[in-house]
Amino acid sequence: MSNSVLKFCVIGDPIDHSLSPLMQNFFLKKFKINGNYAAKRVKINDLKNAIQSFMIEGVTGINVTTPLKNEVLNFVDELTCEAKIVGSVNTIKISNGNLIGHNTDAIGFQTSLQIPGYSFKDKTAIIFGAGGAARAVVVALIREQCNKIVITNRNLEKANRLVEGMINRFPKIQLEAIPMDNPEICNQIKSCQLLVNATTVGMGNSRDQSIIQNKDCLHEGLLVYDLIYRPYRTRLIQQAETCHVPWTNGIDMLIFQGIESLKFWVDQNLTLEESIYFEIKNILRREVCQE
Ligand code: NAP
Repeated sequence: MSNSVLKFCVIGDPIDHSLSPLMQNFFLKKFKINGNYAAKRVKINDLKNAIQSFMIEGVTGINVTTPLKNEVLNFVDELTCEAKIVGSVNTIKISNGNLIGHNTDAIGFQTSLQIPGYSFKDKTAIIFGAGGAARAVVVALIREQCNKIVITNRNLEKANRLVEGMINRFPKIQLEAIPMDNPEICNQIKSCQLLVNATTVGMGNSRDQSIIQNKDCLHEGLLVYDLIYRPYRTRLIQQAETCHVPWTNGIDMLIFQGIESLKFWVDQNLTLEESIYFEIKNILRREVCQE
């Protein structure tokens, strides 16, 4: 067996907010895998060069985050079945000079939805966003047998494309796209049991913003799920708290998609025991909440 140190990284722009290095280096240590994981800022126009450099450096695994998840589809040699279904890549494995694109966001989101007392079977969900993460959320909700999914996005064309592609693959699902400035959005939310923010609104430069203009549409029977984990409580989550609406942020999804990426890279069946899950969750929460 080789003693060489395995190299992993996460790429995106911005990337400073990413908790993946802290989490994946924790996993590497816990599972006694000889490796290290770094964050690298890669602009969309530099993606090709960056990938070539990673191959030369002997990197084994790459996580891909916003805004590169769709762009990266142009550079991989093959896609796993899951990446084809989701239509986006958040994980790349470099194996014998081949780039294999995979997606662990859908399973990560689905695992994080297993909250005691909640089931989304036959329920209605509204998703804000139509990027890579929104695609994964749609696939996870279809697997959870959600009855109806509404997608709303700033760029309506993109939302329409997402809907079209998913209906081709899953013809039985009730899926529709509506504009983000549609005055009917508030009524739509009132008829939903799950609201997911899969946009970047609420982090970075838009930290003080929320995708919801009128918090009165939030109601007791709704779970507000913000995929953002930094800040820990986004503006949207603060609105939910004010209205006594249950919420969750992106930390659980981060953990579950992360362990799936590591399993894919090292080809080992790693078990995320409850004690390890709580340990890393506390570490991540502390890191974010100290800001
Ligand atoms: P992406 O593919 O770049 O998509 C970004 C989405 O945000 C698009 O729908 C975009 O709308 C929307 N958006 C950006 N700025 C906006 C604004 N000012 N107003 C309204 N909409 C805006 O990114 P992604 O990979 O899907 O990630 C989306 C979010 O999910 C990010 O916050 C990311 O951190 C989070 N995420 C979390 C996890 C986790 O494990 N917790 C995993 C994946 C993603 P347009 O199409 O109109 O540009």
